[in-house]
Amino acid sequence: MQEQKTPKKPLIYYAIAAMTIMMLLNVFVFPTLLRGNITETDYSTFLTHLDDGIVTKFELDEQTILYATEVDGKEQIYTTGAMPDDNLTNRLHEAGVTFGRVVAQEASPIVSFLMSWVLPLVFFFFIGRILINFMQKRMGGGANAMTFGKSNAKIYVQAQTGKTFKDVAGQDEAKEALTEIVDFLHNPGRYAEIGARLPKGALLVGPPGTGKTLLAQAVAGEANVPFFSISGSEFVEMFVGMGAAKVRDLFKQASEKAPCIVFIDEIDTIGKKRDGAGGISGGNDEREQTLNQLLTEMDGFDGKKGVVILAATNRPDSLDKALLRPGRFDRRIPVELPDLAGREAILKVHSRNVKIEPDVDCHAIARATSGASGADLANMINEGALRAVRLGRDQVSQADLEESVEVVLAGYQRKNAVIQPKEKEMIAYHEIGHALVAACQQDSAPVHKITIVPRTSGALGYTMQIAENDQVLMSKEEIFNKIVTYTGGRAAEELIFNTSTSGAANDIEQATKLARAMITRYGMSDNFDMMALETTTNAYLGGESQLLVSSQTAAAIDSEVLETIRRAHSKAAEILHDKIDKLHELSRFLLERETITGEEFMAILDCKL
Ligand code: ADP
Ligand code: MG
Ligand code: ZN
Repeated sequence: MQEQKTPKKPLIYYAIAAMTIMMLLNVFVFPTLLRGNITETDYSTFLTHLDDGIVTKFELDEQTILYATEVDGKEQIYTTGAMPDDNLTNRLHEAGVTFGRVVAQEASPIVSFLMSWVLPLVFFFFIGRILINFMQKRMGGGANAMTFGKSNAKIYVQAQTGKTFKDVAGQDEAKEALTEIVDFLHNPGRYAEIGARLPKGALLVGPPGTGKTLLAQAVAGEANVPFFSISGSEFVEMFVGMGAAKVRDLFKQASEKAPCIVFIDEIDTIGKKRDGAGGISGGNDEREQTLNQLLTEMDGFDGKKGVVILAATNRPDSLDKALLRPGRFDRRIPVELPDLAGREAILKVHSRNVKIEPDVDCHAIARATSGASGADLANMINEGALRAVRLGRDQVSQADLEESVEVVLAGYQRKNAVIQPKEKEMIAYHEIGHALVAACQQDSAPVHKITIVPRTSGALGYTMQIAENDQVLMSKEEIFNKIVTYTGGRAAEELIFNTSTSGAANDIEQATKLARAMITRYGMSDNFDMMALETTTNAYLGGESQLLVSSQTAAAIDSEVLETIRRAHSKAAEILHDKIDKLHELSRFLLERETITGEEFMAILDCKL
């Protein structure tokens, strides 16, 4: 984003630089240049020169004599002090010298006033500006030392964010809600006529990287109104007490510029729940004051004036309730992770910026990236372009994108990692164990790819399953089958090598998470029916859950989770036991190839259950 003010600065700097150079020239360079040609001498030498008849010109300027001599056609200029000499005029006349007296040119009063008063003032003004700028920078770009409490909310105007709704793929609901706001700002009259009151504030909520900031920038691009943008963390910045002052100033500026949009990014930094402890807790006073000021300001201004406040956060549940009540941020615009169509659209938007082969299938990539955010997808396109450059191609190919998906999800390939043949074999059996169990269960997403090339994320190999469509609901059986698939790797190790390895750590974590959720959150347990056992906070940031139950119940939950995982594990072992020939055959094949596709896998398996 471009700040409106920026272009002014260089001009000032040029002006100052020019003035400084002129001054230096005046003081040091010009005088020596002039003096270089003029020789100082004494009055008697002048008289001698006059007697010698070599003086050609003579000037008297107040008390200084300036005269020129000419010897063999070479002119030399001398200066000397004037003496009371009544005879001089006659002698000069006799010697045939052109002579005269310099009449002091009285500068016009205006010019001399300009020179002696205005110029220095202008000069010091500029110097002052430079110093202030310099100080501001030294103080971290924060508050202005001269004007405490001025906010640095930057005004962004239409042309300068360069983003419009076209740059935001998917997110149609969010765009629709925001379009209404933009429309209101364009012709508030239509809304006033019918008596509709637009929400004062709208809160964009969603996981990181889903395009909240981008959407706000697009609103700025769409609306032809001033756009103030500030990040929550900027409020709580340097000096205690500044936050509240900044809020006050921001809203003052905004109501002067109404209709306009104020955008507060990452509002959770100031809008966190205030804790009841009051003075005792300390430390948070600053934030609390800032929040209070924000609430006051939001109540204070007239909604009809046309100041619309947008805010973004990925921690809506940590926001103070007071912020969310009607009249403040009463409209909530969810900005969720993109679905299949959304992912495809985002990939298309971003692939406009890179050279890409015409037959690249964005749909296939979108299918392989369930759960990825817009930022992830943008990153994938870029990784693909980087790979194309690395391989010396000038267009991004499908293979580049497929590899970049894995880079973003699992890290770069560790081509040089040395893995012992025995270990490699175990990894191969482990992965085929997952794949085989997945393939032999109903309603399980088809295997897309199996690889035992290690990745920088620490994964030694993995099995990629890609569902035909995005699923919004999962049945109890599907979740259980998923747990069975997670346990398949370990089950294969046990079956073939009669031991277990540390390679299943991640599987264990995932399986446990799912089994727990089945019981505590989805009500899929026989013992607890539909009882809520857990709440989740911070849903958008990975989710932290808290048990709501007594310690006895917690123990009962634990044993039920364990029982579920045990059941899954033995089911996996059973499947592999039945298919042990295929397990051997596929693992050999994978060991040889290191990476096999879903088709190759199915061709060998050839079992349609
Ligand atoms: P947030 O503020 O929600 O954390 P951002 O708005 O900063 O996420 O998004 C980060 C980047 O991800 C954007 O600059 C953009 O390149 C990409 N992005 C995210 N969502 C979308 C989308 N819906 N369409 C296009 N690009 C997107
Ligand atoms: Mg953001
Ligand atoms: Zn595994």
